[in-house]
Amino acid sequence: MSILVVGSVAFDSVKTPFGEREHILGGAATYFSVAASFFTDVRVVAVVGDDFGPDEETVFIERSVDITDLERIDGQKSFHWKGEYGYDLNVAQTLDTQLNVFAGFKPKLSSEARETPYLFLANIQPELQLEVRRQVGAKLVAADTMNYWIENARPELETTLKEVDILIINDTEARELAGEPNLVRSARRILTMGPKRLVVKRGEYGAVMFTENSYFSAPAYPLEDVFDPTGAGDSFAGGFMGYLAATGADDENAMRRAIIFGSVMASFDVEDFSCERLRRLTYEEIAGRARRLRQITHFEESDMPRRPM
Ligand code: AMP
Repeated sequence: MSILVVGSVAFDSVKTPFGEREHILGGAATYFSVAASFFTDVRVVAVVGDDFGPDEETVFIERSVDITDLERIDGQKSFHWKGEYGYDLNVAQTLDTQLNVFAGFKPKLSSEARETPYLFLANIQPELQLEVRRQVGAKLVAADTMNYWIENARPELETTLKEVDILIINDTEARELAGEPNLVRSARRILTMGPKRLVVKRGEYGAVMFTENSYFSAPAYPLEDVFDPTGAGDSFAGGFMGYLAATGADDENAMRRAIIFGSVMASFDVEDFSCERLRRLTYEEIAGRARRLRQITHFEESDMPRRPM
């Protein structure tokens, strides 16, 4: 089944300890759709300026991502994000955010888009996430957000969350959203805000998933070379939602397997700037890392040794 994603399609300027790139293709919806496109059909709702040219369009077209609902505005610039990472690659420092074309964006979805069964509200203004949410009668709705929106658009974010089934955010965002330093307590609080399931991304430490009565933890794929973490969260969400939409399953076991595919897609994304690594990816590579994650998390049950007293 297909997925509709709304979120930023952007240009990024990124500096990591290993290199620096100016004005490269980025955006939450971009990473999400490229990652999810390995599993199922994806359609993007977003807006770009006239700086979005054939090279950028090719990234979507070569993965057969449907960009019918990608609006273009002449004479304006695309969303721009500038960020930097230090040696702790889990922490992105935002240096600048320019909404540009997104500032006044009012999406009017095509009738096909309105009927998409899976909806992902990638990172963008919560107001815009809600506007899209209300136009789509999806079977499953997941969302992401970030500290920028938690701090600058909290009331709108709280309204959006009431209409979301699964929230996928990172650990600092979860703590900030809940106003609570402990992650387990934060999860409990967030689960009263609307979502019935919370996935918390923890960078190189993996991901954890909470519902009111279940908990699951998966490690990140052990990588020696991490080059640029930008888009890891969105690629994770792409693998997660892509797996769910492709299988149509929504039980706890399917959610757990979806987390593994999310971790796998994120592990590839961070190996190069922009979506470059995802563009070169093969199904054999995806399956190989999923198998390896299964091996490294498996252990046999055995009797606990007890000291005789
Ligand atoms: P991630 O590293 O997965 O959290 O996402 C990185 C992408 O999010 C970058 O390519 C940015 O263009 C995009 N981004 C950064 N800040 C925002 C924001 N406030 N709203 C929407 N997208 C953003």
